[in-house]
Amino acid sequence: MPQPRLFDPPDAPEPWELAAEADRTTAEIVLPLPTPTTFHYLVPDALRELIRPGQRVKVPFGRGDQLRVGFVVAVGTPPPATRRLKSIDAVIDREPLIADDMLALTKWIADRYLGGWGQVLDSVIPAGVKKQAGTREIRCFQLAEGALEKAAGMKLPPRQRAVLDVLSESDGPVPVDQLEAAAQCGTSPIHALRDKKLILPVRQRRSTMTDDVVPAARMADLILNPDQQRALDAILEPLRTPRHETILLHGVTGSGKTEIYIRAIREVVSYGRQAIVLVPEISLTPQTIRRFGSRFSSLAVLHSHLSDAERHWHWQRIARGEVEVVIGARSAVFAPTPHLGIIVLDEEHETTFKQNATPRYHAREVARERSRRAGVPLVLGSATPTLESFDRARQGIDRLIELPNRVEQRPLPPVVVVDTRTDPLVSRGHSIGRGLQHSIKRSIDDGGQVILFLNLRGYSPVLWCLKCNEGVKCPDCDISLTWHRDRGRLLCHSCDFDMPPPERCPKCGQPGMKYLGAGTQKLEQEVRTKFPDARVVRMDSDAMKKPGSHDEALERFRKGEIDILLGTQMIAKGLDFPNVTLVGVIDADSMLHQPDLRAAERTFQLIAQVAGRTGRGEKAGRVIVQTMSPDDAVIQLAAQHDYLGFAERELAQRREHQAPPATNLARVIVRGPREDLVRAEIRKLVEHLKATALEIGGDLRILGPAPAPILKLKKLFRYHCQLSAPDVEQILAWWRKAEPKIALTEELELTIDVDPLDLR
Ligand code: ADP
Ligand code: ZN
Repeated sequence: MPQPRLFDPPDAPEPWELAAEADRTTAEIVLPLPTPTTFHYLVPDALRELIRPGQRVKVPFGRGDQLRVGFVVAVGTPPPATRRLKSIDAVIDREPLIADDMLALTKWIADRYLGGWGQVLDSVIPAGVKKQAGTREIRCFQLAEGALEKAAGMKLPPRQRAVLDVLSESDGPVPVDQLEAAAQCGTSPIHALRDKKLILPVRQRRSTMTDDVVPAARMADLILNPDQQRALDAILEPLRTPRHETILLHGVTGSGKTEIYIRAIREVVSYGRQAIVLVPEISLTPQTIRRFGSRFSSLAVLHSHLSDAERHWHWQRIARGEVEVVIGARSAVFAPTPHLGIIVLDEEHETTFKQNATPRYHAREVARERSRRAGVPLVLGSATPTLESFDRARQGIDRLIELPNRVEQRPLPPVVVVDTRTDPLVSRGHSIGRGLQHSIKRSIDDGGQVILFLNLRGYSPVLWCLKCNEGVKCPDCDISLTWHRDRGRLLCHSCDFDMPPPERCPKCGQPGMKYLGAGTQKLEQEVRTKFPDARVVRMDSDAMKKPGSHDEALERFRKGEIDILLGTQMIAKGLDFPNVTLVGVIDADSMLHQPDLRAAERTFQLIAQVAGRTGRGEKAGRVIVQTMSPDDAVIQLAAQHDYLGFAERELAQRREHQAPPATNLARVIVRGPREDLVRAEIRKLVEHLKATALEIGGDLRILGPAPAPILKLKKLFRYHCQLSAPDVEQILAWWRKAEPKIALTEELELTIDVDPLDLR
């Protein structure tokens, strides 16, 4: 058998004649471009046996016929009759990088989120898989066909016999060094056998990684309470059929949702199938991993700190079916499980499930489509589901299961709303008001632990000029610079620009600038001053730069080595510490007054989630929310733990304002270095979209164009408009029809974001 060497370009390009094209194999290729188009290429005879969908190839593309890397998405499709086809230059991958069902799913993503199929494939397949990181090619030998029969009639030296014996006892190719060791010989008997054509050289990729997963201590199952059992039964029903169904598990914090997932997955594993559990990255703490690790024997944890080699290694284990449960952030929805049995998406309301770069997919929707195609259930869990998910469940499209109580009759903590407008300390510039200060002291004196939440990192968010009545802004962004006192710099939280604080206002030259407001660094200082004996840790992205420091801090908190944990979002999520008796929200208003259609929803979620961090053990807990809008309905409903009341109210408002989920949105952003040009071009674009909408008809609306709330970001001016329609399919059709005639000036960038979450 000749050695295939076709993973390099063939030696000489062969002249394919136009007349001969009809009976040649062609392949459909997608390139990582923002276009829905696929391209047809001829498959040279030499590659015909090797080429399969899911592999990468090199193809000549564009005017200069430059070689570009594309993905094969189909082989043998009839080519378009009109054009002369170019030939594929080389096949890059020996095996497809992605299975057919996942290939089809990436096509769905490209259609649903208006991206290029090639772009989606390029982003979905991890770099480590493409590079085959952590593996190397090794030379192996295997028996030739009929070699043993042939050898029986030959007179062979004992060492050559020994080599044949080793190979006949192994069930596959054996690496040269192992073969030499097992047969106790050097290379010459092996080469002699090869020359006699009794054995064949083959190359195999082997992982250089070893399994270093430390098995966690086994834990027995808990006895489910009646609510949990009811929820489990609802999941088991479609699981046993099996059929697809989406189940929204709306359960208050501490209602035992994770235990339900574990039991459902136990069933899936007993069928020899695999489960995917999607969590926000921040929940990938050792705590979560331990909980799953103590119940399942083979786990793959896909977090963002994996090296290319580790990611590739997990990918292959998963693809071979060796992994029972895959736990990971957003992109784990693409885990190549061969027999998927269930997908669980926990903390369904988290915005990190939406990708903020092309392809701008939402993991929940991809999970929905993947589980639908696989005919298996999807479980969404949250104490505060998004209104999109809640509305679907309420309408009966998905199944709604409620867990209204915490396990073991633990009560939800009382939430006290404190008006900071009349607080004597806050009016003097403190972050912690009088009521909260008393409560912190009491909690610590009673041996409890405290969590303080402030969603602003740095020391002060603004350096204010009293004359201009303006803060100092980033020169490249339309954003105030934040004072980071520890570094002695003003910092842009958007582009990382930094500078020393100016003595005089950069605009008017006036001295006497003032630092306004407080971030976590200033809060930390205040806490240390007010509670000098308490052990305090600040947790935000500045303090937790080192990989692992987040886990380490949480572990110390769990052990009781920390009294007060203060920080940003990082501490609001999914933590389960029984000894936390007080949670303080420093400023509930910062989110509430954002110009964002989901401002109320995010505020509600935040209060409910931080409240979920206390009262989880034997001790009772309480929550203090400081706000300047104590009468605001959202804050009141959150204080009463009234999700249903909030959802009804908010859904009514969304309907009134024609906002999601009452309608569907896509956001179009045009960016460029010159504002006048951006404005002029987006106006043209909007006119074109309006004209297209008239042609199509139906209830298509367009809002804008308008400057984006953050007008300038990283030196580029941004304008946007919003497309809306009752059905997302209508928006997609609209855009696809308009797209071919959109021609922006070269220096402008265009983004379309379907189901946008970030509207800044
Ligand atoms: P959620 O995910 O809904 O916030 P968890 O699954 O984290 O809730 O459960 C909260 C706590 O209750 C965990 O410590 C868990 O071990 C415990 N728990 C869950 N179910 C039970 C049960 N049936 N009996 C006793 N404890 C339980
Ligand atoms: Zn900036």
